[in-house]
Amino acid sequence: MSGPPLVIAALRSEYTALAGQVSGAELVRCGMGAARAIRWGEQLGQRDPSAVVIAGVAGGLDPAIRSGDIVVADEVRDAHGRTLLRGAAPLVAALRAQGFRVHSGPVHCSEHIVDDRAERERLAATGALAVDLESAALVRAADGRPTAVVRVIVDPAYGRLASLRTVPAGAWALGVLHNLGPALVQWAELVRPRKVVLAGPRSFCAGVDRAIDIVETALQRFPRPIYVRRQIVHNAHVVRDLEAQGAVFVDELDEVPDGTTLVFSAHGVSPAVRTEAARRDLTVIDATCPLVAKVHVEARRFASRGDAVVLIGHEGHDETEGTMGEAPERIHLVQNAADAEALELRDGDRVAYVMQTTLAADDAADTIDVLRRRFPGIESSASDDICYATTNRQHAVQAIAAESDVVVVLGSTNSSNSQRLVEVAERSGARAHLVDDATGLRPEWLAGASTIGLTAGASAPPHLVDEVVGTLRAIGGVEVVERTVADEKIMFTLPKEVAG
Ligand code: SF4
Repeated sequence: MSGPPLVIAALRSEYTALAGQVSGAELVRCGMGAARAIRWGEQLGQRDPSAVVIAGVAGGLDPAIRSGDIVVADEVRDAHGRTLLRGAAPLVAALRAQGFRVHSGPVHCSEHIVDDRAERERLAATGALAVDLESAALVRAADGRPTAVVRVIVDPAYGRLASLRTVPAGAWALGVLHNLGPALVQWAELVRPRKVVLAGPRSFCAGVDRAIDIVETALQRFPRPIYVRRQIVHNAHVVRDLEAQGAVFVDELDEVPDGTTLVFSAHGVSPAVRTEAARRDLTVIDATCPLVAKVHVEARRFASRGDAVVLIGHEGHDETEGTMGEAPERIHLVQNAADAEALELRDGDRVAYVMQTTLAADDAADTIDVLRRRFPGIESSASDDICYATTNRQHAVQAIAAESDVVVVLGSTNSSNSQRLVEVAERSGARAHLVDDATGLRPEWLAGASTIGLTAGASAPPHLVDEVVGTLRAIGGVEVVERTVADEKIMFTLPKEVAG
């Protein structure tokens, strides 16, 4: 049987800051520097702690990090390689929830104090956020046990690491460290084996794959910059990744210089936007999902024959705005059954409805029931407007909800289909939470949970799922099973501008 969690501080001042704050864990001091950490690490095996937390102060490397900010390492690097520390992610969410400024990223472990500006700049260029002296040796000594490295920044980028004892920033950082104790222990107490039930299908759909492919291909083939109107898909990771490749995201066309290349997002645009893009002599590449485009065609068809068109969708969503723009004077937005109940139409005999592609099927069914009762002759598209990817992911999350203590949905808050997955899981009786990535996992969701259901919205990259599984694996191990309710083989062709 393992011993209690171990919290390791290097300096006496760090030890003093944490003393009395880590109830339930053993607090020890290893001494400053790599050599002392290596010597102390030799005793770690005899103690056999259930988890190891390496906590203290450090120097900042990233210019965006300020004195008193916290860096939770997702990776510790020494001169010879790197060690992943995925299991520490729930600590990030817990500390953010307490109001701390927290960054998650690599910590570089040096064998000497790094107070030379050129050396700090060189380390910062590798992507490391902070530099310390002991973590690599201690992580190695932890020998695969659940381990977290948490550093409070004393001196921001290009400051002097040796300044701890001489500037108020040192006292400030130690004050922050003092307040971290309970969260460190809460994280260490998460350690237990778990089962992860993956929903299948999950993550990218064919429309999202196509949209990302379009931007990436445009970046290779067309003169830069490549502008993208609105988020290409509603996911912060996808947008950040494409920005890093050179894409420029804008809200409206007036931010795009004449004669440049513009990509329309997967959610589609109104005819007015297309007309304006043509007037501005923009080279347009249309990443509208073909299934969204199909809804536009239906809305146009119904409106052109004189019907009042009811659009069931969410106000302010990019897709809804685009569809409304097909016939603004004829299309009426209803968001739910209550809206449908209150809807007043001049001619109730000539009515049709279309839907946003990412609605929850149950909610939409309630709204359609009301519309059918109030307008018995109402028509609709021959095929369902809620797309195959939305439907499959909702069925899959239903399938895992019943056997999960908590369901984690990966996706951004502005992602309609991801939000719907949370709602469907909750309606199926599960606790469910939406997170952008593993750093959103809150310890209180995981505490006591033996079975974690896991899925991802159609706009969330698959690697985020792997990272959550990796996080859970690192805090006690996981058995992974998958419940697949549908096999998706759909692929869409690329527009001619980027095909071939
Ligand atoms: S969720 Fe559906 S409509 Fe939206 S991009 Fe994916 S396939 Fe297309």
